[in-house]
Amino acid sequence: MNSTQYSMDRRDIQFVQKEFLRVEQLTQLPQFKDFSPQDFDLTVEEGATFVEQVWAPINKIGDEQGTVLKDGKVMSPKGFKEAWKKCTEAGWLGITAEPEFGGQGLPLSVAVGVLEGFYGGNPALYVTTMLTAGAAGLITSFGSAEQKAKFCEKMITGRWGGTMCLSEPNAGSAVGDIATSAVKAKSGGHYLLKGSKCWISGGDHDFTDNIVHLVLARAQGAPSGPKGISLFIVPKFRLNAKGEPAEPNDVTTVRLEHKLGIKASPTCVLEFGAQDDCHGYLLEGENLGMTQMFKLMNEARFTVSYQGLGAASGAYRNALAFAQERVQGIPIQHGKDRAAKRTPIVEHPDVRNMLLTMKALTEGIRGLIYSLAFYTDMARHGPEETRQRYQDLVEILTPIAKNAGADQGFEVTRLGIQVLGGVGFTEEFPLAQAMRDAKIASIYEGTTGIQALDLVTRKLTMRKGELFGALLKEIGDLRPELAKGEGTRAAIHEWQDAVGKLKLTVHSLKQLGEELGPREAVLHATDVCVFFGDVMSSYYLLKMALLAETKLEPLVNGHKNARAAALQSPEARFYFNKVKTAEHYVFEILPRGRAVVAKVQSRSFAALDAVLEA
Ligand SMILES: Cc1cc2nc3c(=O)[nH]c(=O)nc-3n(C[C@H](O)[C@H](O)[C@H](O)COP(=O)(O)OP(=O)(O)OC[C@H]3O[C@@H](n4cnc5c(N)ncnc54)[C@H](O)[C@@H]3O)c2cc1C
Repeated sequence: MNSTQYSMDRRDIQFVQKEFLRVEQLTQLPQFKDFSPQDFDLTVEEGATFVEQVWAPINKIGDEQGTVLKDGKVMSPKGFKEAWKKCTEAGWLGITAEPEFGGQGLPLSVAVGVLEGFYGGNPALYVTTMLTAGAAGLITSFGSAEQKAKFCEKMITGRWGGTMCLSEPNAGSAVGDIATSAVKAKSGGHYLLKGSKCWISGGDHDFTDNIVHLVLARAQGAPSGPKGISLFIVPKFRLNAKGEPAEPNDVTTVRLEHKLGIKASPTCVLEFGAQDDCHGYLLEGENLGMTQMFKLMNEARFTVSYQGLGAASGAYRNALAFAQERVQGIPIQHGKDRAAKRTPIVEHPDVRNMLLTMKALTEGIRGLIYSLAFYTDMARHGPEETRQRYQDLVEILTPIAKNAGADQGFEVTRLGIQVLGGVGFTEEFPLAQAMRDAKIASIYEGTTGIQALDLVTRKLTMRKGELFGALLKEIGDLRPELAKGEGTRAAIHEWQDAVGKLKLTVHSLKQLGEELGPREAVLHATDVCVFFGDVMSSYYLLKMALLAETKLEPLVNGHKNARAAALQSPEARFYFNKVKTAEHYVFEILPRGRAVVAKVQSRSFAALDAVLEA
């Protein structure tokens, strides 16, 4: 671990996956019966090594060089093409994909132990990788046998790239307003697409000899709005009889966006059908596009949550290493004694507070995200009778995890810069790029505001509040009497109080909606979503603290106390700090939820009343 290189937190990942979630139990399910627990361990270890040795070292070059559009073609930064090749050859792109199409078929809750590093170590490169896997997943789910045979394996093994083309200049958050049209060709069974798509990640690049765009468009005569949208497979090059790329398919890269971060990710404006000759192949049937896309968007929202996690984890490790090395000032307890020994900044209370906040936010979202991955595995492949329960948890936790991952990831990188001081603000250290790169997570795959709306207007009201009920039931197992230590017991009491306030908040939102209307009810949706994220992150941290207390007990034998043991042994230190991290989250971060209840109950609607005119 050092202050300039990306490294993965192997110990914490291992703790969450193996000790807390016990992912080895998934090998009992028919879907994963061919794996052994050792296979899982090996995957995570090899993935971390790949991230640290191949993927992350070119992250800075990507930021410096960015992508370039030359003669209509996109050129990637030095080393990116080679890294893509190594990644796809090693099977990382298809880590959870169907083995039938060249994927590894691993559980999501195992894969996430690798993927947080792929996203954190080189987010710009991972965006194209992730979207290719996502696009292939859509064809796997909804394509005809012929479409699957033509596209899936080539995409999952990384021979061809993939994109998701939703956004248009006048249709961003409001995807239902897209105008790209699709007219059925007189012969050939295909459609002719026409329209402009913007912000398309991986819209063009030099990694592969074809790119398969999945394009939302409106078929002729379709109803307006979301119900009239269909999804089309549009390869950059049409395929010849052998299934290989042949003539160009009238897809033009018009422009590359110049961005705040993820500069090496080619974000393209694409023109489909400028020559009226862009062939698209309908996926499944007309007007099913939004339903199909929701499948991908749910997965992509989850993926973006661990972009934040990967960024946060790297930033915390860089900042901690720096704070141990950087000597500055005199410890405050030495007063004005100029002769006192200068101290590493890690000893200053304010720096310690920032570092423990970084650690708590990072490990809180890790607990939330890995648990959500586990629920996803169980909802898809677990015993039939428990699938609905897990699916309910997946539904309600997806917008919460997306926002928590994105926002806390950004916050941790921001704090990291603060810990480093002046050098944190320079490009000599990785934190500045990490913060710029992390910002996008709160914008794409649905902005923070859109996720919050999804939570408040859909997930909390769905099936008369049953999803919220399922969540409360899930977290109802955390009780103070389970704690061994006073600190943890007090923290669980405090957390239970926060859960009570969260219930009150949800009730107040309902009342606002009924008495005053939807604008008043959603005014604080984003804050409410943050409150949910904090309650859930601290729930997982406290559950992990209970486990850590048990593991710590035998390690304290022969020492004065737990802290003395932690100073001596790395294992004792790990568990001791787990307990302190949970306590810190509950008493330092969770209290911001009280402000949310107060805001919602204040019935102050200044933001709705103000005349916001320039
Ligand atoms: C780097 C990058 C990569 C991207 N990659 C892709 C891609 O691969 N494929 C793709 O299709 N798109 C992609 N996008 C587009 C991205 O999904 C959109 O930018 C995003 O959905 C927001 O749309 P918008 O930019 O039009 O903002 P707008 O929708 O105009 O939103 C602007 C602001 O208004 C708020 N807002 C909008 N509507 C509402 C509402 N109803 N209620 C409350 N608040 C609202 C938003 O939260 C936001 O704060 C990418 C964008 C970027 C920047």
